[in-house]
Amino acid sequence: RVLCAGHVNWDVTLIVDRLPAPDGEVKIERRHQAGGGSAANVAAVLAGLGADAALFGSVGDDEPGVLAGRELSAAGVRTHLVETDGETAVKYLVVDADGEVMVLSGEGANEAFTPEDLPREALAADTDLLHLTNQPPAVAAALAERGREAGATVSFAPGRQFAERDFSATLALADVVFCNRREAAALIDEDEDGNTAYGALREDATLVVTHGAAGSEVHDRATGRTVTHDGFDADAVDTTGAGDAFAAGFLAARLDGADVDRSLAVANACGAFAAGEVGARVELTWDRIETTLDG
Ligand code: ADP
Repeated sequence: RVLCAGHVNWDVTLIVDRLPAPDGEVKIERRHQAGGGSAANVAAVLAGLGADAALFGSVGDDEPGVLAGRELSAAGVRTHLVETDGETAVKYLVVDADGEVMVLSGEGANEAFTPEDLPREALAADTDLLHLTNQPPAVAAALAERGREAGATVSFAPGRQFAERDFSATLALADVVFCNRREAAALIDEDEDGNTAYGALREDATLVVTHGAAGSEVHDRATGRTVTHDGFDADAVDTTGAGDAFAAGFLAARLDGADVDRSLAVANACGAFAAGEVGARVELTWDRIETTLDG
């Protein structure tokens, strides 16, 4: 049983041949609308891989919110969505023929929930894993604390805001931390007192760093062991959501009892599939993954 907490979006992806220059205009070749948001993406992929996945997040009282919730339910995700007065977060993504992406983000209702909004039964004693993404630091830390109290493994993907905000309290509670290369650089940046975010990590934490098309690595702090994977070739169409699919694959494999080496391979296969399709979500099955791993 897994609970993901964080962003729920409605993504409108516009496919163009080339991104417009300032003052320029380009033709939209194709328009694709679907659910997005990092926590929702991870929950949807986990459910597709057979996990009992739930999502905690917030949406507005509007059509994108209804669509996002409906899509998650259809994917088999149990939803705990707090409905607020504001608007559901809508993202506009412009993707060119090389897979280059430009994103316009609506503020939306994503930060409207508080840890107190989480229903008690959503994080019960049978929750194996709590996956946190994109919350403000205080909210992430409060949820991580509740996760640990419930006896769940806590995984944390801080996302873009990692470099700008202080997540040390959550890092000190997380068993698994996911970063891309840019975010990993923020781990070693020193503050005025010479402290680093890396120093806030638990002694037994597992740090997973993704390197886009070049694959990824896992560093096990307890043993000092590092495992790397070169990734799989993908005809990259739109890399939106690759990191989320990657995290979902890693967590699904770990929950299944796989070792770190296999989990990392599964994660890279999931990331490559997501990069090869338009939109943030990708329908993955173990069959598809096994074929890639065997190939
Ligand atoms: P994020 O989307 O969070 O920035 P990355 O771009 O590092 O994360 O991608 C996450 C993972 O997805 C990578 O480690 C890799 O496994 C896979 N991936 C991403 N882009 C590609 C690509 N162009 N080709 C193959 N795999 C990719």
